[in-house]
Amino acid sequence: MPDHQARRVDLRSDTVTQPTAAMRAAMMAAPVGDDVFGDDPSVNALQARIADITGKQAALFMPTGTQSNLCALMAHCERGDEYIVGQNAHTYRYEGGGAAVLGSIQPQPLAQGSTGEMALADIAAAIKPEDIHFARTRLLCLENTWNGHPMPLSYLAQATDLAREHGLATHLDGARFFNAAVATPQAGADAFAAARHIASYFDSVSVCFSKGLGAPVGSALCGSQALIGRALRWRKMLGGGMRQSGVLAAAASHALDHHIERLAQDHALAQRLALGLSGIDGVRVRSAQTNIVFVDVADGRAPALLAHLAQHGVLATGLIGLRFVTHLDVDEAGIDHALACIRQFFRGQAVAAASAHVAGSAVY
Ligand SMILES: *Cc1c(COP(=O)(O)O)cnc(C)c1O
Repeated sequence: MPDHQARRVDLRSDTVTQPTAAMRAAMMAAPVGDDVFGDDPSVNALQARIADITGKQAALFMPTGTQSNLCALMAHCERGDEYIVGQNAHTYRYEGGGAAVLGSIQPQPLAQGSTGEMALADIAAAIKPEDIHFARTRLLCLENTWNGHPMPLSYLAQATDLAREHGLATHLDGARFFNAAVATPQAGADAFAAARHIASYFDSVSVCFSKGLGAPVGSALCGSQALIGRALRWRKMLGGGMRQSGVLAAAASHALDHHIERLAQDHALAQRLALGLSGIDGVRVRSAQTNIVFVDVADGRAPALLAHLAQHGVLATGLIGLRFVTHLDVDEAGIDHALACIRQFFRGQAVAAASAHVAGSAVY
């Protein structure tokens, strides 16, 4: 039997998970109603729960993280306002320019260091004075985790203090918010306490249930009653007013009950992968934080390595470097299989290089 039929290890993203049987059962059993009327008990329960977890007054269930971030930006900023954001942040770089296109909000992107931080001096310098020449700087947007990196609490404190001193609101794109909570033990006694602590620096937080938490769909925006009231209007306008969405909210609630503490296992698997890779000539681990491992591949061989892996049922992403993401449908055996395939690839290359050398010698 070909290897790829024997085993499939999908490390492209933590969005590829299948809902577990228990999650599907929770979805089946969910009481539902029309959420545009505010009638869905499962949506209302999820919103109350995630608001409580993040320590905010209110929350709004969203179909996607993109829509949740966009509603947040549009609820914080008006036409002609500006938000400060990392040059490689998701809301700026990977959301189709929605803030500018749909929100008439000018992004002010800033360079980020290798772990995602924008320099405080750069943030301060980018805040425009009150002057008719300038857009009004209204909001600072951070991302946690960023490329897997959990932001240090000291940085969250300093950056959001700086924003507040200048009258800016603060938003956290927390697509992998709970990975950050689990990986920041100094933030709290457990993952939920840590989550609340991290959220406390921000006026609003967007979290995804469809990434490491294993739900099929859904995000939530958390913030003050007033902010969520404005976001509700934008969500409807953007087409995110769903009806019996309690079937989806039930999956998210199930994830909050069962899939938070276990994120530590995904982080351990990423470390197992990084450790294995560190013993292989031809690859270099660039970063391995929380559930994401970035790898540089020597001599432009990343595409060939990706193809080799795919042939053996191991899926990853990348062009120059490769990205591997662990999640609840990956186990130690899967990681070890991926490592074996990568070793085999470089052994094969070494053999090919050696025989090319022999063949070359024969010619001369
Ligand atoms: C995935 C992601 C989003 C968007 O979430 P979607 O549900 O895919 O729209 C936003 N921010 C970050 C950092 C993400 O990784």
